[in-house]
Amino acid sequence: MNEKNSQRGSVTVIVLGAMVAILGLGAIVIDGGMLYYEQAKLQTAVDSVVLAGARVLHEGPLAVSTAAENVAIANGLSLLDLQLSINTATGKVTASAVKQVELGLAKILNHSQAEVGALAEAQVGGISGLKGMAPLGVIWQEFLFGQLYDIKVGAGDGGGGNYGALALGGTGSANYRDNLRYGYPGWLRVGDIIMTEPGNMSNPTKLAIEGRIDACQHGCTFDRYVASCSKVLFVPVINSLPNGRGEVTIIGFAGFFVDDYTGQGNQNYIRGRFIQSFASGEAGASSSYGLTMIKLTR
Ligand SMILES: [Zn+2]
Repeated sequence: MNEKNSQRGSVTVIVLGAMVAILGLGAIVIDGGMLYYEQAKLQTAVDSVVLAGARVLHEGPLAVSTAAENVAIANGLSLLDLQLSINTATGKVTASAVKQVELGLAKILNHSQAEVGALAEAQVGGISGLKGMAPLGVIWQEFLFGQLYDIKVGAGDGGGGNYGALALGGTGSANYRDNLRYGYPGWLRVGDIIMTEPGNMSNPTKLAIEGRIDACQHGCTFDRYVASCSKVLFVPVINSLPNGRGEVTIIGFAGFFVDDYTGQGNQNYIRGRFIQSFASGEAGASSSYGLTMIKLTR
């Protein structure tokens, strides 16, 4: 080999080396972008899986795995690649998944596949603070999910002048009506002392509840409703009602589904079904009275 040829040889090696480097960079950019996209897609799917499972945690592990697996399949995940862990004691649903991704440019460099993985955990817990409450104080009894209860009674039912109405952020019937129709815009927290709104409040109750029922455009029922349905009322749970305008203490929060119009005059009640419901508020360790929050913790 003469001097010239050997130089040409090294030039060829350098050119080849540069090409491999450029291809490698291209593979990092193009396949890396695709892997990033596939990982993000897998993370979204696994997040949806744990959230769906967490929503039915109160129904037991079988309901959780059924709901979680349905969402996994709907998101294109293979159940073989999904690991699900359910802890009803701690209120946690955890899932992880892996997915093989076909590579493009990196194939030239002998890498045809890569694996992406995702992990998610949802925590179901009590709520210590919430906005948008209906101005109704409900005295706790052992409510059963799906059963009908009076969450405001009529004056015909006796009582010491309080029929369940609360004065939130002000007093009077117009304030009560707006809070009942749209939810009280301020925060309420467990331990807060609030005032009752004495009197039957027949007309404002009727207007607000009719407004809520008419505003639902989804044909919601108590066992199948959209998350923001106007027929869902979140109410403070209290331990007793005083005589006349007086103080009550919030001990928790509960959710009711109201799709019945109220009675008239002295028979003006609000009747709703106690529901297992979810809201996003301030997380707290307080007992949940059926109203809980779910958040992604991983
Ligand atoms: Zn609705």
